[in-house]
Amino acid sequence: MSLPPDLQLDTLAVRAGQERSQFNEHAEALYLTSSFVFESAAQAAARFAGEEEGNVYSRFSNPTVTVFQERLAALEGAEGCVATASGMAAILALVMGLLKAGDHIVASQGLFGATIQLLTNILPRFGIQTTLVPQTDAAAWAAAVRPETKLLFAETPSNPLTEVADIRALAQIAHAHGALLAVDNCFCTPVLQRPLDLGADLVVHSATKYLDGQGRVLGGAVCGRKALTDEVLKFLRTAGPSLAPFNAWVLLKGLETLKIRMMAQSAAALELATWLEAHPGVARVFYPGLPSHPQHALAMAQQKTGGAIVSFEVKGGRAEAWKVVDACKLLSITANLGDTKTTLTHPASTTHGRISPEARAAAGVSEGLLRVAVGLEAVADLQADLDRGLSGR
Ligand SMILES: *Cc1c(COP(=O)(O)O)cnc(C)c1O
Repeated sequence: MSLPPDLQLDTLAVRAGQERSQFNEHAEALYLTSSFVFESAAQAAARFAGEEEGNVYSRFSNPTVTVFQERLAALEGAEGCVATASGMAAILALVMGLLKAGDHIVASQGLFGATIQLLTNILPRFGIQTTLVPQTDAAAWAAAVRPETKLLFAETPSNPLTEVADIRALAQIAHAHGALLAVDNCFCTPVLQRPLDLGADLVVHSATKYLDGQGRVLGGAVCGRKALTDEVLKFLRTAGPSLAPFNAWVLLKGLETLKIRMMAQSAAALELATWLEAHPGVARVFYPGLPSHPQHALAMAQQKTGGAIVSFEVKGGRAEAWKVVDACKLLSITANLGDTKTTLTHPASTTHGRISPEARAAAGVSEGLLRVAVGLEAVADLQADLDRGLSGR
């Protein structure tokens, strides 16, 4: 369907990409079909040869997945988008589609744990090496670049400490060396931050988080110039970690409420972070929307809000942190995030539990650290729940 030009993000999130069938359905149709039928032998041959546009098999393309891809591309301001089975499948497909043995990656030490595992334990077996550098030190990123560096990979704000990377500075470093910059935009989503506008070449998503927004399905995506996403698609259609049509349908309905959720959850996060910072049981709060955050100015320049993730250190160590977790009757004890239900994690014993205590300390993940992914409940109810453990009641 052709939409009028120059639509705003709110409108694109609801309307972009939809194509109605002959039944003129209002909501997007869910095409649960693995393959598509041809009119003739000649058409089958033309479709397989790529001489004629059209669906062939849902590992390559599916109309419901296509709507999700076009809608997310519109929101990110991207020319192309390829959907994947999960966020990790998106990162794998990006690397497999665009890099080869002998290439080198520079990435942040603060990346999502499975991303670090992929880059440092799996890809080296296939001849792709990665150097990890501190998230906020642009000079360290520049110093780590080698002649064979093809990709800089960042995630901002980082998990769980919400460190902010300077996307413009990293794009300049990448482009000065003929490399690409990819940004994992999971924490901000295009509502709060559009990495391509800041100079990044590629955006990666774990759609599992805020794009779904209600903790139902796994999914992922890679967005960028079509010349790049076409290479990612070549890997995907052959190797197979494609997004299921049902998941695409759930995700594209999630996109329709993305803006109101992100704005409401960020506002609640700021309120909770401000309250935590004043709480006598709290030693330190990590939230980019607070003036006390080391990269507050940068965060406010490149993001619309501080986001919906708040981390804080309780006074004391593991025992005091676990007391807060165990006193909660409302917040869910789970490592997932991006849900309308607020979640609470003790990173040192869960998401960061498998790394050595020394590496954990170097990453700033202390025993007293807790991470809250703020949902849509009343902030007063969240405060009362956390206060039980923090005040020892
Ligand atoms: C969850 C997550 C991923 C991985 O996504 P999956 O959908 O779980 O595969 C990647 N990056 C970030 C920042 C995440 O939070």
